[in-house]
Amino acid sequence: MGRFVTGGAGFIGSVLVDRLAAEGSDVTVYDNLSTGKEAFISQHIGSSGFRLVKADVLDFQRLLKEMEGNDVVWHIAANPDIRKGTESTRVDLEQNTLATYNVLEAARKTGVKDVVFSSTSTIYGRAKVLPTPEDYGPCLPISLYGASKLACEGLVSAYSELYGINGWIFRFANIIGRRSTHGILYDLVEKLNVNPAELEVLGDGNQRKSYMLVEECVDGMLFGYENAKDRLNYFNLGADDQITVRRIVEVLLEETGLEDVDVKYTGGESGWAGDVPVFLLSARKMQELGWKAKHSSEEAIREAARTVAKEHLKTRE
Ligand code: NAD
Repeated sequence: MGRFVTGGAGFIGSVLVDRLAAEGSDVTVYDNLSTGKEAFISQHIGSSGFRLVKADVLDFQRLLKEMEGNDVVWHIAANPDIRKGTESTRVDLEQNTLATYNVLEAARKTGVKDVVFSSTSTIYGRAKVLPTPEDYGPCLPISLYGASKLACEGLVSAYSELYGINGWIFRFANIIGRRSTHGILYDLVEKLNVNPAELEVLGDGNQRKSYMLVEECVDGMLFGYENAKDRLNYFNLGADDQITVRRIVEVLLEETGLEDVDVKYTGGESGWAGDVPVFLLSARKMQELGWKAKHSSEEAIREAARTVAKEHLKTRE
């Protein structure tokens, strides 16, 4: 079975690729290496059935050519950085909405049966119902990133209805852990690298969100893909609890062993424009399917803090 993974050299994509390759699937990684790294998938290069195509999803003719002969597309590539999209208003439209259109159109033209899409909790915006179930509405995102991902979900739904493509949509909580190149733990560690005596934290520290280890995110997607059999399947993917930013900072400092760090909060309920300060995804639909995250948000943060500090903290070198 040919598996085609856009963004397969990235943080989440490369962990997915490890799992697919371990299952014995033929895997093509299609990635422009804008934020992904060849080093994340170098263990597969040269293995039979594995291909790395260094190319852009926005290059439609190339995408079409390379996708030919595959059965499943895991569309993981995107601009995952909410702040970048706020600074440059075309980024999410191009890297998320148009990129997803290209992937679906190439899937239609090459006869791919299944498309799995990585979406996000941000499509719900400031949801009035917590934990937020999958059928919550109206979905009113507050970032261009969230808006573009919601548009992508609409495209997956329409392609599924019109052209008989089976679709799986997974709305992730915050994903953390090894190989991360962005996100709260990575950002805080990078700041500590610059100045281990002082730590600036965005917002007032009371933001409350839910977190999940990257391995569990991939495990949940694979479980959902194998076990949900509607034409269009959509699930939240996250722990069923939250942790505050203040607690994350405490756990990170415990795990780094750094002492006497002067923590300064910038203030305000949100960390940045477009940030949803409080969210909690309902995990019930995945649980009813038979899958549950093994780690609470705090357990995931502690494990990821250890890993991210080991990978990136310079005082450890
Ligand atoms: P990432 O930046 O590590 O992965 C994105 C990958 O896509 C990278 O390898 C990058 O090089 C590649 N890519 C980007 N644009 C491309 C293009 N035009 N053509 C080809 N390749 C391209 O980020 P990630 O955190 O692993 O995110 C993976 C997916 O999960 C994204 O769709 C993101 O929106 C979604 N997501 C992530 C989180 C999270 O907390 N990390 C939360 C919700 C949703």
